[in-house]
Order: sequence, then C-alpha cells, then structure tokens
Amino acid sequence: MDVIRDADINPLLARTIGIIGYGNQGRAQALNLRDSGARVLIGSVADASAARARDDGFEVVDIAAATERADVLALLIPDEVQRDVYEQEIEPHLRAGQILVFAHGYNIHYGLIRPPQTIDVIMVAPRMIGINVRRSFEHGSGVPAYLAVAHDASGTARQIALAWAKGIGATRAGVLETTFAQETELDLFAEQGVWPIIMRDLLLSYEVLVEAGFPPEMVALELYGSGEAAEIFHQMARVGVIEQMRLHSQTSQYGTLSRGPRMLPDESKERLRAALREIRSGSFAAEWGSEQAGGYQRFEALRQQARAHDINGAEVLGRELLERSRLRSDE
Ligand code: NDP
Repeated sequence: MDVIRDADINPLLARTIGIIGYGNQGRAQALNLRDSGARVLIGSVADASAARARDDGFEVVDIAAATERADVLALLIPDEVQRDVYEQEIEPHLRAGQILVFAHGYNIHYGLIRPPQTIDVIMVAPRMIGINVRRSFEHGSGVPAYLAVAHDASGTARQIALAWAKGIGATRAGVLETTFAQETELDLFAEQGVWPIIMRDLLLSYEVLVEAGFPPEMVALELYGSGEAAEIFHQMARVGVIEQMRLHSQTSQYGTLSRGPRMLPDESKERLRAALREIRSGSFAAEWGSEQAGGYQRFEALRQQARAHDINGAEVLGRELLERSRLRSDE
C-alpha cells in the first residue's frame, strides 16, 4: 500500500478553517494547523471548551457563525452528536464550495449526515488520541492518518485533504489513502471483534483464578495491572505480533504457541465474520441509533453491570504499584 509522506499545504493556507469542537481532536488539530501557518477559528457552544480555546489564543464564535465564516469546516465533536449539531447549526448556513472535514467516517458512511452535492466531503482520521496528535507534532513528528474523499464537488477535495494531513503533522509519519467505508468498518471491527475478546478473556480468567483461590489483587496485577500487557502490545506494534515473543522466556513462548489454537479455535472466525457482517450491513449502526434514541437504557445497564464486577476493586493495588514504578522511572 502506498504511503503519502508529504503534501502541499498551500491550498489550506489560502482558506479560513473552522474547527467545530475543542476536545481531544479539536484542540490538537487546531493548534497543529495554526502552528503550520493556517488561519483557524473555533466554533463552539459557550462552555469550558470555548474558554480553553480562548485561553489558547483562538477566536471563538458560535457554530453557525463558524460555518458562515469558514471555507473548510471540521466536525470534531463526538460522533453521536454530530448529526443534530449538523442539522441544526451547520446545514442551514452552508454555502456551495465549502469543504467539510471529518476525523471518522461513521456519520457519512451510514448516511446519518448527507451534505449537499455542492460541498466537498473529506476525511483525515488520525490513528491516535488527540493528546498524542499534539505531542508528537510538538516533537517534530506526527501520527499516521487515513485520508479519504467522499464527495469531490470542487475537483480539489483530495488536495485539501492532503494539505490538512500535512497541517496536522500526519504526513511526517505517513498517510494511507482509503475510503469512508473502509475506515469506518475497520474501526468498528477492532472495537467489536478484537477488544471484546481481550476484555472478556481478562474477566473470565480473573473469575477462574479467584475461584481457584488466587488473591484477587495478584490476579489483576498478573493479567494486566503491572503494565506488562500494555508493553506487549507496544512491542507488537514495534517489532511484530510474533517477533515480540522473543522478549519472553521459551516457556512463555511454548505455552502461548501451543495453547493459542485451543483457546481460540479457527471456528471462532465464523463469529468474527458475523461481527463484520453486522457492521457492513448497517445493522449495528441501526441498533446503536435506536439505543441513542431510546436514551441509552441498555448501554447504561451494560456499563453498570461491568462496573459491578469484582475486578474493579482488585485492580486498585496494581494501579498504585504501577504509579509508584512510573514515578521511580521518571526520577
Ligand atoms: P471529544 O469528545 O473530545 O469532543 C469534545 C468536544 O465536542 C468538546 O469541545 C465538547 O464541548 C464538544 N461537544 C460535545 N457535545 C456537543 C454538542 N452537543 N454540541 C456542540 N459541541 C459539543 O471528541 P473527539 O475529539 O474524541 O472526537 C471528535 C472526532 O474525532 C470524532 O469523529 C471521533 O470519532 C474522531 N476521532 C477521535 C479520536 C480520539 O482521539 N478521541 C481519534 C481519531 C478520530 P463541551 O466542552 O461542551 O463538552
């Protein structure tokens, strides 16, 4: 797959940028774009985010005014509220030739936001939390990002997307060109096919070990609390899923390789395929949409159930030890 490592930022510098929302991504991208020479204003409701943006030296206006003044408008508010904010405060003020930027494809891909045909719709989706988008930029590097064009009314949408990627520092790390569909489906698949298996395995393993008489605090520490599990993931990204095994003992390697297929047999792929089908058909999005419309009742019940699990109490010690070991390594 081709990696884009540079771009021309000039198409962006000639335009006014409006960033809607000053949270994780909003703050990081606004600061990076300004440091890259762009003219940035923030569109926000009058709240703590607006105050923070003003403290950072940005002009802050309401969302409707930002829509009217900006040539390029980024929706960097939570995906769940984007549709309402778009319909009520953005759509009525849009004009032909403007460019809408997303950092995740969900609302466009599932048709929850349908901009007029006269508007360019692009995506630059950093593969990292906002704090690191900013921190790495300040250190002279950047984080990787996906780039996509959903609608090219002007004929220059891709150029703007590339300029945006350059402005937030993403081209320094590398940009992969994709589609809104692919970015959305992959993102949801990781959330529904990968993380639940890991989380559920930790909970079930905790239950089995505590049931067998092991001290709960020690179990939580062993399974993930020491930070070793996080380090394994870091090494997977750095040297490879299999290659990182060399950092562990041969006993560990043999145990992992010989038991892996038994713990998660090949037939499990059928469940993963089913998860992908739900995502691709839009049935997950429909379910999540009715959950939101119904006031998050099932979601709240699931969260309460998860918070009531004994593991929450058992991990307090691990957190304290991790904090102390962090402090020592910082000294
Ligand atoms: P945040 O949750 O950090 O957004 C918070 C901002 O949105 C705040 O300024 C908040 O204002 C504002 N906001 C919340 N609700 C409303 C509302 N109803 N009306 C107006 N403003 C509102 O969002 P993220 O930065 O996490 O996500 C933004 C986009 O970036 C999403 O599309 C997400 O998928 C994508 N993304 C996020 C990543 C991440 O690191 N989290 C990584 C890659 C992509 P207030 O002060 O009032 O709360």
